[in-house]
Amino acid sequence: MRQIFLLILLFIVGQWLVKALRRHEAHSAQRAGAGANGAAGAKGSNGGAHGSAGAQPQLAEPMIRCVECGVHAPKSDSVVVNGQPFCSTAHAQRHSARPTGRDAR
Ligand SMILES: [Zn+2]
Repeated sequence: MRQIFLLILLFIVGQWLVKALRRHEAHSAQRAGAGANGAAGAKGSNGGAHGSAGAQPQLAEPMIRCVECGVHAPKSDSVVVNGQPFCSTAHAQRHSARPTGRDAR
């Protein structure tokens, strides 16, 4: 019982931390100037199937959930295969290579 309370407390503290971090990020981004795209450099190795415009402003991007690993990724970084979103082409290939188990009723 006490562990549950601890977990809830941890959850609340985590949420608060995330919120504080976001606020700090927005604040520092404003100070650094809105034109600099500093956050865009961290991501790499995304050989997207739809190789289109890479210089889009990252504003409130919709997030998708990778079917393979469950990670949430921005939609521009995701790969959609057969209507299913993946965080990377590697996961899309892994998912398609593995039998889903649903066809065998
Ligand atoms: Zn994934």
